[in-house]
Amino acid sequence: MDSRSTPLLELQNVSRIFSRKKGFLGDRQEFYAVNGVSLALKPGETLGLVGESGSGKSTVARMAVRLLSPSAGRVLLDGRSMFTADKAFRQSLPRRVQMVFQDPYSSLNPRLRVGYSIGEALACAGVPARERKERVAALLAQVGLEKDYAARFPHEFSGGQRQRMALARALAPEPELVVCDEPVSSLDASVQAQVLNLLKDNQERLGLSYLFISHDLAVISHMSDRVAVMYAGRILETGSAADIFMNPLHPYTRELLEASRGRGNVGSGEPGKAVASGGSGCPYLRRCGQAGLDCAGEAPELREIRPGHFARCSLA
Ligand code: ADP
Ligand code: MG
Repeated sequence: MDSRSTPLLELQNVSRIFSRKKGFLGDRQEFYAVNGVSLALKPGETLGLVGESGSGKSTVARMAVRLLSPSAGRVLLDGRSMFTADKAFRQSLPRRVQMVFQDPYSSLNPRLRVGYSIGEALACAGVPARERKERVAALLAQVGLEKDYAARFPHEFSGGQRQRMALARALAPEPELVVCDEPVSSLDASVQAQVLNLLKDNQERLGLSYLFISHDLAVISHMSDRVAVMYAGRILETGSAADIFMNPLHPYTRELLEASRGRGNVGSGEPGKAVASGGSGCPYLRRCGQAGLDCAGEAPELREIRPGHFARCSLA
């Protein structure tokens, strides 16, 4: 791939603020669910976004598909802002960018026959009615399902089959980018591998780009060309999958790796007090086993430690 090509998806310094109640009757307090995140995804590439629950991954996903607007920063598709570019461009986005959720019912209406749900996505993409039946059958085949399934309802299938159907629906408008938010997290391990391989096969066949989100490092490692590690709304480390797995630089990445190898525990990546106030100090300070005196000072920037391998840690 040409390293100079325009990224398909780019997040430039994107933040998203939410508010939550402080205590039972308390005032609402604002906090950064996503804080100054920059990411770039090249055409045909898979960028894995990993981090524990509450770290802000789904908020990134929702901004990347224009379901949620950023509080600051820019989200670009092919170099153009998803939020401020002209109307024709913005109207083309639902076709070009699709999402697969953890729960397939987020995209499959339980009251509609599977073929109808997929046909609806084809209709939105402008496929004429007379071609839809054939296209539905082809899409079902593409995700390893029989065409007869079109006449049945989602609840008649297993979780893995439903997720295949959700993928068929996402692929219907022939998107360039698919944002997958924990697509296999609700599936049994044996079924997970099948669905991951299906995602890979379709990527190769269709030249898709994936922003692939998981809390599970094993899954991320199976899928990703590059990886970004997120914690409390920030990217703590990013680089090629080989960099991240062979040569992790950030103590948090190492903690995640240890935990995924069954040695250690991972707590919660909810934005803490320091982050909520936009405050100083390393966001990982409270959890870090290696922190020194300097770490309580200025929050570290994301620095390029080796070519293409960045970490937000004063000790790296
Ligand atoms: P992840 O997907 O990594 O588990 P999320 O992006 O879902 O993380 O959430 C990040 C933080 O933002 C969490 O603290 C979550 O509770 C909070 N959050 C997410 N969506 C909203 C919302 N609509 N309103 C208020 N807080 C939210
Ligand atoms: Mg999530």
